Parts: sequence; structure tokens; C-alpha cells
Amino acid sequence: MNLLLTCEHARNLIPKEFSKLFKGKQKLLSSHRGWDAGALEIARGLKRKLKAPLLEGNYSRLVIDLNRSENHRKAFSEFTAHLPEDTKEKIISKIHRPFRQKAEAIVSKQNTLHISIHSFVPILDDKKRNCEIGILYDPKRLLEVEIAKQLKFYLKASALHPRIRLNYPYRGSSDGHTTKLRKMYSPKKYIGIELEFNQGWLKELKKNKHLINLIAISIQRAGNTLKFNF
Ligand SMILES: [Zn+2]
Repeated sequence: MNLLLTCEHARNLIPKEFSKLFKGKQKLLSSHRGWDAGALEIARGLKRKLKAPLLEGNYSRLVIDLNRSENHRKAFSEFTAHLPEDTKEKIISKIHRPFRQKAEAIVSKQNTLHISIHSFVPILDDKKRNCEIGILYDPKRLLEVEIAKQLKFYLKASALHPRIRLNYPYRGSSDGHTTKLRKMYSPKKYIGIELEFNQGWLKELKKNKHLINLIAISIQRAGNTLKFNF
């Protein structure tokens, strides 16, 4: 079993040719609308510890969202949705498709556990989200259910003692990168998990050198229970 890491919302950069569209929007770009703060650090740490390939999104999701299908009505944001069709096609072929195709090339070669790394804001619409890590999976795919359960167990038992919720703050089966790959590959060949980290918790833990280690070990142990070695 191969391990693949992805970080779709790693950055809030805008390609030079579209910078005009985002003039004066720096604050919005720095917010969660622009990117998943803290996710790339976790993803890179896991890449190092687990020696797994990592695909990183290079631009803000407000240009095109790599975690939406290219024809999803929300793939483009209010800043890019109105662009001429040929410009949008260019964005898809230069940014979206190459990212997705790299993942497909890896999965097609070998059975793969894909872990897609994200972060979420601690408070949404005045409501505090009461967990530190969300594990998203498709309840219909038994290997995903099992690996999510094991991951929850090992993460919870780690020295971080995070509160963990399954399929929270989003449903694992909504449109996304993992959902697309599930449609392409059988449940044995492809296991797609999204890990969602609370940004407030990540900030607190920033000085904790062991954070990445503990997450990496939890992934390894959860994999081992299913006889995956990576
Ligand atoms: Zn995300």
C-alpha cells in the first residue's frame, strides 16, 4: 500500500496575470477563504516523517478550488467565475488538471492510501467547533471506515489528546479530490481520507515539535493494523 499526501489549499498566492482581480483583497486572501492556514506545515512534516510524495496546491482556492471537480459550480470563486470561458479553460488546464493528474498517476500505479490535509476555522458563524481534528471518509467504503476508526484511536491515545470527530466539520462524501478518486478506483485500490485540523489548535501547538511526529506515528500505526506498511 502506497501513501500519497495532498494539500489542496496550501497557499493563498495569485498568479501574476490575475493579480488585478484581487486588488485590495489581501485581507480576504489571508483569511480561510483564501487558504487553509497551517495545513502545509503539517503536510510537509508528514512528508518528511513518512517519506511519502506530497502534492501541494500552488495558488489560492479563490482562483480555482483544487478540492472541487473542475465542473463544480463552486470550482471558480466570485472573482474568477465571470472570466471568459477560454480563460477559465486555461486555468483548469494549467492549475487544476495537472494537480489531479499527478495524483491519478500515483494511484493508478499502486494501491494507495491517500491523505488529504486541510484546516478549519475554530469558530464559524459564532459557533465554536468543539474538536481539534476531523477525519473525513466515505461510510460506504469499509476500508475507509476502518482506517478512520484506527486513526481516531491512535491520535486520541497520543500525548496530544485531541478531540476527534468523524466526518466533521464536513461530510467525507461531498464533492472533493478524494470523492473523485473514489469514483475512478475500487475501494481496495484506493482509500481516501481527509484530515481536517482546527486552526486554533494548530496555533497553540506551533511550538510543539512533537506534533508532526505524533500524527505521523498515528498514521503508521493505523495503517499497520490493516497490514499496510509505509
Ligand atoms: Zn481545505
